Amino acid sequence: MQLKVIQPEPKFSCSQCGSCCSKIRGMMPREDKEFLEKMAYGKMPLIQLVPLEQMTFPLYDWEAKRFKKWQHEAGIDGKIKPSRAILDLNTNTAIIVTYFMDSDACPFLKDNKCSIYYTKRAYVCRLFPFNRGPFLDTGEKASKENMFGTCGAMESVMPHIPENYTDMVKFLNGAFPDGSFGNAVQHDIVIEWVNKTIVALIKKRLIRPAMNYPYDFLVKRISNAEKIDFTDFLVKSNYFSSGEMENLIKRFDNNSDAKEKIEEFIKNN
Ligand code: SF4
Ligand code: SF4
Repeated sequence: MQLKVIQPEPKFSCSQCGSCCSKIRGMMPREDKEFLEKMAYGKMPLIQLVPLEQMTFPLYDWEAKRFKKWQHEAGIDGKIKPSRAILDLNTNTAIIVTYFMDSDACPFLKDNKCSIYYTKRAYVCRLFPFNRGPFLDTGEKASKENMFGTCGAMESVMPHIPENYTDMVKFLNGAFPDGSFGNAVQHDIVIEWVNKTIVALIKKRLIRPAMNYPYDFLVKRISNAEKIDFTDFLVKSNYFSSGEMENLIKRFDNNSDAKEKIEEFIKNN
């Protein structure tokens, strides 16, 4: 009798080369760039405050607050600045939704190592080699060709990723013991939550975002306006109580929504 040798499926293992942290400027999936170039300079409630080629990855406001604290603890200037905001005409307030680190390499990268690796870090730090997960609706179906950034450690995994969508999701769920797959799925859920929440705020008339004004005018108004972080605004406007906001951020941190989404997908397929 001939024994069939079952090969274990390859698993991703980060070699900690530091390359994804050393070139963070301008790293953006093509479809995001195209969309932002068209829409983010005054045609949508969310206004891009810096040129796209200057952008590094986004930090949500609660992540930026943590990074601002950690930079002091680590003796680092994180160069953290607002990157996207809503100008609310009701209150003449600039609501800062995301920040970025204005640097070519991540300022927290020292001797090729992350100096805050022991912390929760930001989603974008924890989701790489993914750029996005398979459930995000961008108009382009997720495939192994459009989900990943450039990462040498993916070379051994890539050929084994199935083409079939269902098989691919199941494979991804088992192949990333570092948790990056769950982080990518949760990050996409956070993106969708931000967009839906902005729409809900407009419908409830809690904000009246400035749109279709000349871009230079918007940027000037934002720079002169009083500023508030998005999640602080949600509490201040009674959209959430502070306890609800805290619990929601805990849910995001624990990838609770991603775990449910992946479990449901696997159960139904
Ligand atoms: S995720 Fe990839 S690019 Fe980033 S440090 Fe690990 S091996 Fe290097
Ligand atoms: S905070 Fe750490 S993991 Fe995140 S980009 Fe910077 S060096 Fe990399």
